[in-house]
Amino acid sequence: MTSANLFPGVKVILVETSHPGNIGAAARAMKNMGLTELVLVNPLDFPNMKAVFRAASAGDVVRGAQVVETVEEAIADCQLVIGTSARERRIPWPLLSPRECGEKVVTAFEGEQKVGLLFGRESRGLKNEELQQCQFHVNIPTGEAYSSLNLAMAVQVICYEVLQAKHAGNNDSGRSDQEWDLPFADSAAVEYFYDHLEATLIQVGFHDPENPRQLMTRLRRLFNRVRIDRMEVNILRGFLTAINRLGKPGEPHEPQEKG
Ligand code: SAH
Repeated sequence: MTSANLFPGVKVILVETSHPGNIGAAARAMKNMGLTELVLVNPLDFPNMKAVFRAASAGDVVRGAQVVETVEEAIADCQLVIGTSARERRIPWPLLSPRECGEKVVTAFEGEQKVGLLFGRESRGLKNEELQQCQFHVNIPTGEAYSSLNLAMAVQVICYEVLQAKHAGNNDSGRSDQEWDLPFADSAAVEYFYDHLEATLIQVGFHDPENPRQLMTRLRRLFNRVRIDRMEVNILRGFLTAINRLGKPGEPHEPQEKG
């Protein structure tokens, strides 16, 4: 028997879904397109038989879903995170069409990266802070009068494009990803870096947490654009640690000689 999972390491992540029927319908949409790794972040009503009924022959995907508390947990091991969004946000992010999204996912998958595809709440989508944990956003173009698809329909469109991109086999858009000499940093490492960066900017008096403006958002967007690798994140963390030491009394202030 052929495996139902054509994309091991590619996760569909549904955030705080209210209706269990949507979870089932999303599972079916996934399995139809060869994806089976479903992660539910804090679902409001799960487990629920309505999810299994709506899944039809994808009940295995529903029963196999991983349930976690936070988006951070869901994406911690992902090197590529793409967030879906029905509307324009205040600070625009690198935006993909569904087709480009499919190509990015397949290229990353072929490069053995773990991928997270984030879908939001039926009522209000993804929060800005969740969207800012993504390298890319994807919007499904719609008629002007009504841009918000049903959650499972959005999952269907994106998963369809992932499978089409695999069939087309010409994923040029991110080919350089595969030629990179080091693995890309995963989301957990990048989030530690942002926390460290923010704390250091506060320490040196550059950033005022009482009046944050959009500083951290803009810095996230900057670093997201370069797909930071594991070595680079370690270098940057080491650099921040050196700055942290400068501020501490009793610690050496001279730069350390590198031998
Ligand atoms: N009312 C919400 C939309 C929620 S729709 C809002 O204004 O943001 C539920 C989810 O389906 C969204 O979070 C997103 O993951 C997906 N979705 C719906 N329409 C979409 C579209 N046009 N493009 C991309 N994703 C969409």
